[in-house]
Amino acid sequence: MPMDSAAELLTYYEVYETIGSGGFAKVKLGRHILTGENVAIKIMEKKELGEDLPRVKVEIEAMKSLSHQHVCRLYHVIETNTKIYMILEYCPGGELFDYIIAKDRLSEEETRVFFRQIVSALAYVHSQGYAHRDLKPENLLLDEDHNLKLIDFGLCAKPKGGLGYELMTCCGSPAYAAPELIQGKSYIGSEADVWSMGVLLFALLCGYLPFDDDNCMVLYRKITRGTYNNPHWLSPGSILLLNQMMQVDPKHRVTIKQLLDHPWMTSGYDSPVEWHSKQPLGYIDEDCITEMSVNLKNSRQSSLQLVNEWKYDQTTATYLLLLSKKQRGKPVRIRPQLPVCDVISCSPQHLGVQFMLRCLEKRLYSSVMMMLRTVAMITTCPGFRSHPNKRERPVRQLKRGGIKRTTPPLRRRSQSHTTVARRGGAWNGPMKTKRTLPWPIRMLIYLLCPPRTPVANRKANRPNKRVLTTPTHNNTNKVGNRVDTPQGGGGSTCKDPSRKRQRERVERKEEEEMEELIFSPERRSRSLDLAGASRGTAARRGRGGKVFGSLERGLDKVITMLTPSKRRGLRDGPRRIKAQYNVTLTSQTNPDQVLNQILSILPEKHVDFAQKGYTLKCRTQGDFGKVTMAFELEVCLLHRPEVVCVRRQRLKGDSWVYKHLVEDILSTSSI
Ligand code: ADP
Repeated sequence: MPMDSAAELLTYYEVYETIGSGGFAKVKLGRHILTGENVAIKIMEKKELGEDLPRVKVEIEAMKSLSHQHVCRLYHVIETNTKIYMILEYCPGGELFDYIIAKDRLSEEETRVFFRQIVSALAYVHSQGYAHRDLKPENLLLDEDHNLKLIDFGLCAKPKGGLGYELMTCCGSPAYAAPELIQGKSYIGSEADVWSMGVLLFALLCGYLPFDDDNCMVLYRKITRGTYNNPHWLSPGSILLLNQMMQVDPKHRVTIKQLLDHPWMTSGYDSPVEWHSKQPLGYIDEDCITEMSVNLKNSRQSSLQLVNEWKYDQTTATYLLLLSKKQRGKPVRIRPQLPVCDVISCSPQHLGVQFMLRCLEKRLYSSVMMMLRTVAMITTCPGFRSHPNKRERPVRQLKRGGIKRTTPPLRRRSQSHTTVARRGGAWNGPMKTKRTLPWPIRMLIYLLCPPRTPVANRKANRPNKRVLTTPTHNNTNKVGNRVDTPQGGGGSTCKDPSRKRQRERVERKEEEEMEELIFSPERRSRSLDLAGASRGTAARRGRGGKVFGSLERGLDKVITMLTPSKRRGLRDGPRRIKAQYNVTLTSQTNPDQVLNQILSILPEKHVDFAQKGYTLKCRTQGDFGKVTMAFELEVCLLHRPEVVCVRRQRLKGDSWVYKHLVEDILSTSSI
């Protein structure tokens, strides 16, 4: 039975900022609490999906039956009454699209490396009876090892009679769509995929599309004619392959099977493309089962049984993430859990706040005080933060850990903890200063202290970004109001149906706002208690509402106390970064000048923006105020050479339109 809120998600995952969004979903960075592994959380609102809801079900079913080195892995599915969360393998390298436009175009050699991976993924997907039907560089992501992973199976199809059976639905992005598809004819999914791969290959080699036009009808005409220009830098081999893939008649088109050992594909390699899965579905790894049974206190047999159910729940996620750790040479370890309560989460913040909220709900104030005292005692215990697996350790270090064992086994770990504590190891880092504060404040700091992820670490190095008031602050107030509002009383006892409906609407809205808060990185730590708050909101309004409100206000005060001056954003200067592929170098040395130049151009280009220090959160809107595109521009300083640069990131909207707009902004800014 689906739950009503994000509570289940927050039991198993820490949720950070948005890393992308598509036609149906918003994608956020997350961290699986038990294994400490980063994940991507694809969030879909059922209400917004409407008629597209079945597509999500299709995507989930497809991803459950696919396991391949070049297909993004699904770990966990969580469904609530209003949302669907898909927990996916995290690909930190971004979209292939951004990689191409950053380099203008790729060399034939680099294209071949990528294209072999794409063909490998598609040959596998087809072998499982699926056609992807939305192949484009935005749906290929780079992982930390610069390998491609195919995502977005929302439009995929698995014809009942096999892939040889014809399909009718016209879907995908027009520029990549095969002629038979846009003509509304029945078509074979795998043949249509080969056409899209041809368009993709062209985009890799040329940096632009073979068929392009702002006018849809003109674009369709170009595609159905199948004529495009080959630029002068293409080799005869590339021209031939493109021609074989973009054949208007699907029966004349090269097949995936022929592509595997096509001379262009194998040039410089001594073997055809390997398309079989290196991680077949249902594979059981003994080390992962051992770790799960030891740490989750199950017998080996029952752990194995649970994993073998492949329910795509917390068990599947834990197993697959442990397996992923092992495959990357990291220790197959579950992070230690606190022996506090039944919650599987091992985040002390999470456990602590959930426990406190439960006590507040039951008016067990003495338990809350006891909890506060215990946490204060633990946090003031010397050496507390020097625990080997503490979250303060940067994740980057974990990643680099490689085969080297970075965490001792659980038993030894707990020993080392107590030993350090007894020896009276020193506080490290910022905790030294906190120690001089009275214990309730220290405890609250601890509860509010956000975990450090690579992203959090990066953010910590940035100047304060809250130069302008952000919507988050408004949301915060709203939630505060909600708790104290007198009309909230009565909970589920309301008899008048219209008032009841109205209240349900308000509650839904409040929950949405609250979930925004949950996901807001700036209020991340507070998200934990709000997760608890989402259960039995009405009841708390009637009973513990006031206490809850005052606790919130208390937390707010501490947050305000800890928030550095808002003016620091610009005063601290821009962030220093290393050269990345989504960075445009300028010829200037003064970052403020670059910032001002961009600021003066944005209104001309009809781009709305919010400034946070040197970051401009930009968006364009369509006729009815619908956000058509969202992206970030950030003025930074490059390490070497010492120049001002502009980092860009697309968050929403058509990639090619984004490319043209950003190019236009940056060239008009004459930076
Ligand atoms: P939709 O189904 O709504 O089109 P997508 O699955 O295409 O959504 O995801 C939207 C964007 O989110 C992607 O283009 C990508 O930038 C980002 N994204 C999606 N999945 C991941 C992932 N596993 N790791 C990192 N980023 C991701």
